[in-house]
Amino acid sequence: MMATSETERDGLVVRDASVRFGTTSAVDHVHLALRSGDVLAVLGPSGCGKSTLLRAIAGLEVLDSGSVVFDGQDLAGVPTYRRGFALMFQDGQLFTHQSVAGNVGYALRLQGIGRSRLRRRVRELLELVGLPGYEDRRPATLSGGEQQRVALARSLAAEPRLLLLDEPLSALDRSLRERLANDLRRILTETKTTTLLVTHDHDEAFTVADRMAVMRAGQLVQDGPTVEVWRNPADADVARFLGYATVLTGPAAIRLLSLSGGRRSAGPDPAQPQVNTPDAGTSEGLQVAVRRSAVRVDPAGELGGVVESVSAARDTMRITVEVEGLGALAGVAGLDERFETGQRVRLTVDPAGLAVLPPR
Ligand code: ADP
Repeated sequence: MMATSETERDGLVVRDASVRFGTTSAVDHVHLALRSGDVLAVLGPSGCGKSTLLRAIAGLEVLDSGSVVFDGQDLAGVPTYRRGFALMFQDGQLFTHQSVAGNVGYALRLQGIGRSRLRRRVRELLELVGLPGYEDRRPATLSGGEQQRVALARSLAAEPRLLLLDEPLSALDRSLRERLANDLRRILTETKTTTLLVTHDHDEAFTVADRMAVMRAGQLVQDGPTVEVWRNPADADVARFLGYATVLTGPAAIRLLSLSGGRRSAGPDPAQPQVNTPDAGTSEGLQVAVRRSAVRVDPAGELGGVVESVSAARDTMRITVEVEGLGALAGVAGLDERFETGQRVRLTVDPAGLAVLPPR
């Protein structure tokens, strides 16, 4: 399943890595390859082993099996500070007794670069992260978002050959997180920084990374370009984790596919079964994941059902409808529309928001 090239010499290769804590397999035979300049998000729920994997790559956890290789060099026995990697955590961990410039220039001072070059480089880095002129500020006077920008500038200062980000935006509130995710993407692309990001937030992974590796119970269950993973989840759990609101199985899945024209959005994909007109024999294991946004209340819609629940979200009404022959289907309606539980409505389904899952 993993597209790991065992002969890859450029960038990071994690081969068959396992980390156990007592009887817990926190990381369970993980294969992962990251080419120079790529941005990979390891995405999974809390406790699935993301941080342990990242710490093992950094050399902060000892592998029970397998290896971490960078540019062809096996890093077993190479201590963290000699790996040429930078690490950044959820809470930035700035040096509170130093100014912003002191924080950002930390690694450069260790390298012994001259004062004027140091000042110039700190200024460039602060501009890059959107904090020009912040040199003399103290970390305690900065907002959470500004502190994370300083932490990022500090991580990038020494031009690490690999940047490891552990939930870098998770401590921030939502609108800030969205803005910073976009900035992070731009900064990593501009600086061509090879990056491994771990996060539980699929939107963040989608915004920041080119590739996504989905982790569950210590194992990587799917790895691919973010758009591909998003359109073709490997199974129902991955689909739900990526934000698909409903997973229909068997006859209900068939019925929905036929009603929505049997089409799906992703186009031909050799890795996926083409299920255009499934017959009864294949219906047993068939599953279709449905995005909430693909299901809309529409008087001319092809499905009919009874409203089960309604709630207001940021820019839509969220509605759950019990559809005859399908079961409960989560969908959306306009914020100004009014519905009551038990009311009959019609729904239309956009095939672009459906994903046919591989047979179980
Ligand atoms: P995530 O980053 O996905 O939330 P972690 O890597 O932190 O997951 O944890 C994975 C599993 O390993 C969890 O079951 C956690 O309780 C366990 N674990 C992590 N660190 C330790 C440790 N130092 N000692 C014992 N168990 C640990």
